[in-house]
Amino acid sequence: MPIGGGAPVAVQTMTKTETADLPATMAQISRVAEAGADIVRVAVPRDQDAEALKTIVRESPIPVIADIHFNHTLALKALDAGAHCVRLNPGNIGGPDKVAEVAARATELGTPMRIGVNSGSLPKHLHALERENPVEALVTAAAEFVELMERLRFEDFKVSIKSTNVPNTIASNRLLSERIPYPLHLGITEAGTKWSGSLKSAVGLGTLLADGIGDTIRISLSTFHAEEEVKVAWEILKALQLRERGPVLIACPTCGRLQFDMDTVVAEVERRLEAYDDPIEVSVLGCAVNGIGEARHADFGITGAKDMGMIYSKGEPLKKVPTEQLVDELFKEIDRYYAAGKTVQRDETAAAEARRWLQENEDATAMTPERIAALEAAAAENDASAAEVLESMLDGVNPVAGDGPVEPVGAMGATEMDEVVSPVAGRRFSRS
Ligand code: SF4
Repeated sequence: MPIGGGAPVAVQTMTKTETADLPATMAQISRVAEAGADIVRVAVPRDQDAEALKTIVRESPIPVIADIHFNHTLALKALDAGAHCVRLNPGNIGGPDKVAEVAARATELGTPMRIGVNSGSLPKHLHALERENPVEALVTAAAEFVELMERLRFEDFKVSIKSTNVPNTIASNRLLSERIPYPLHLGITEAGTKWSGSLKSAVGLGTLLADGIGDTIRISLSTFHAEEEVKVAWEILKALQLRERGPVLIACPTCGRLQFDMDTVVAEVERRLEAYDDPIEVSVLGCAVNGIGEARHADFGITGAKDMGMIYSKGEPLKKVPTEQLVDELFKEIDRYYAAGKTVQRDETAAAEARRWLQENEDATAMTPERIAALEAAAAENDASAAEVLESMLDGVNPVAGDGPVEPVGAMGATEMDEVVSPVAGRRFSRS
């Protein structure tokens, strides 16, 4: 697994089992590997864990990092057990001599290391600086460890600065990336629960990754299900388009026009999409009022009304089905698509029936969130305010291009609209 040097950002996680409990540890490693972890880290706090590493390394489908604190003998044992990488904090392992011993063995075996600092365990001589400037203290600690490793002629490592504080994590990694040429591992330590921890990590790591900083990431969540950390990591990488993995689900935010139980449907679609590896795009719209709208580019999608819904592909209706069968029928269409070598299978009679249904249910005058977004996009394109574009539509005059007909926004033509709400100013516009 290449780290740094332009390689794709690698996804890490850490097992939460007692490492020496081989059945539990191996089961969790398979689950995280299946969820997309590129690398897995296991805690090695005792001799029996170092012993268990021999089997773990042999049987793991992905590289294994041994996580060591305080005890350099365990680091040596982990290296001898075949760990693919050893993570240690040079500040808590017992002094430079002990670090040198580990570095010498790692060099012999060709094993890389991760060296890192945590905001909670900075060396004593940096405590005063930490009170004054915590970011500088973190970066100084990391830079000192890097210098130590260079003095030991060991350069096959990545570096991490971990803090529970999101702004400090961002600032210190930005600074560190300017000071050292080594790959960086990113994480927000003790980020919290699945909900808050995912958000903190998305903000902190997302900001750095968007800047091009970071070579491996780990999302630390308070859950025993390590695969959840992996899923969050992938969502961050997918959102930034740094890596692709599995389907992309698009779902409308719902609003007062919602016509079926979309919460349940979206959750079910998301769950069933986990079985697919291809980066297919699937959309779920809460009503047919808006037509297919912005989901036009989705590979497959569904939109529903009270009793009936429609399945579509690339903006074209495929068939109409009873609402309770929408999800099953959607997945039947997706499976048919893959069975036919990624070709959409269209039955023209069913498609025509669905098109008619859509026409009956679509309301071209409704000012839906999607159409408001389209209006804003048109305004941005014309370098005008959305209100101006809207007013010009109402007057039949385009403020940018001068007099003349104005392009309809989405399916809504200017002449079909009689009252709408301004998306920018909250003002109401009426057409006489
Ligand atoms: S108008 Fe848009 S946001 Fe509202 S339910 Fe319909 S598709 Fe969803």
